[in-house]
Amino acid sequence: MTTASPTLGTHVLGLRCRECDREYEISPIYTCEWCFGPLEVAYDYDAIRAAISREKIEAGPHAIWRYSDLLPVDRSHAVDLGAGFTPLVRADRLAAELGLGEVWVKNDTLNPTNSFKDRVASVALSKALEFGFKTAACASTGNLANSVAAHAAHAGLRSFVFIPANLEQQKIVTTAVYGGNVVAIEGNYDDVNRLCAELAGTYKWAFVNVNVRPFYAEGSKTLAYETAEQLGWEVPDHVVVPIASGSLLTKIRKGFDELFKVGLLDTPPQVRVSGAQAIGCSPVATAFLEESDTIRPVKPDTIAKSLAIGNPADGYFALDAVRSTGGGLAAVTDGEVVEGIRLLARTEGIFAETAGGVTVASLKRLAQEGIVRPDERVVIYITGHGLKTLDAVTPGGGPTAVIKPTIDAFHEAFDPESIED
Ligand SMILES: [Zn+2]
Repeated sequence: MTTASPTLGTHVLGLRCRECDREYEISPIYTCEWCFGPLEVAYDYDAIRAAISREKIEAGPHAIWRYSDLLPVDRSHAVDLGAGFTPLVRADRLAAELGLGEVWVKNDTLNPTNSFKDRVASVALSKALEFGFKTAACASTGNLANSVAAHAAHAGLRSFVFIPANLEQQKIVTTAVYGGNVVAIEGNYDDVNRLCAELAGTYKWAFVNVNVRPFYAEGSKTLAYETAEQLGWEVPDHVVVPIASGSLLTKIRKGFDELFKVGLLDTPPQVRVSGAQAIGCSPVATAFLEESDTIRPVKPDTIAKSLAIGNPADGYFALDAVRSTGGGLAAVTDGEVVEGIRLLARTEGIFAETAGGVTVASLKRLAQEGIVRPDERVVIYITGHGLKTLDAVTPGGGPTAVIKPTIDAFHEAFDPESIED
């Protein structure tokens, strides 16, 4: 593994164990035979440094594929619905409410299926095609189900998506519409995930977050690349990232580090990374607050179902990223989650799903605790659209007034004196 494969058109050396550093050829595998540690894609960073430039990226497509030099798939056969390059929105009104200075919202609700999962599904299904798979499958808390079903439809792949049966109706409907197989499991996500690990050993399918996971997970790095590019090739001081499996947070941190490694940043990035969880499923936050290295699995009970992973695969790596960068972790109540959704919508005009409510509520908590500071440039990651979890804001979500179609009726409901101008 000393040279990149010329046939793939990428700068990938192979797979490497995150625990023991043993190396493997590129194939649909995800654990180390030696120590059972998770495998990760290894790149030839010198080759990337020679091939990449800010100008080349800026001339690329408005999608994750503008960073294809840093992804494990050749762009020429990408399964591309346009994932990525979502807006980074300056959020002064939110910042003012929270007593903060410079806050930005990475609005990943504006992806093809309205969540950040389009980034990882696009990379995973591209790799699945390259490996010759005919079926794409996944275990999902909802957003990945949407995205795998859509990308599979676009690529002409058969799909099987496995979800907990108690998922939000909106997420089930917006998956089923793509015509794949949607399998609802009577159990929680961790049960779904266990079943998928078994099925992955039985069927020759591309399980995007099982046997294709090392490639799939790389898609999340693009959130860091975009953030830096959109800030004029600078990094934020502090980011707040929701934690489900912990992969997103870990990869965002890796993405910032890679930008320096390949010469796209002038100085080593010093980004503090904070995490956000709902109190009903907060195994990583609990370990952080207890100053423990052990992440004890929990049984999830929260409205933030897209984050409801009780036994997070990358929990330890996420915890380590938060600790080693001087970040913090918050665990917020379901009430705070709903308040967070409304706060972001009311101040910035961005409608987030419950996971976004967790992130905004966590930002508020971390600001109150002095962990996120007013002198920092902060970016928060809003990963899914509010239309996916409408039930969370349905109570109190009715009209301000219901009136007859006359001016008099309007004036009865709204005193003309008080609404003038
Ligand atoms: Zn190993």
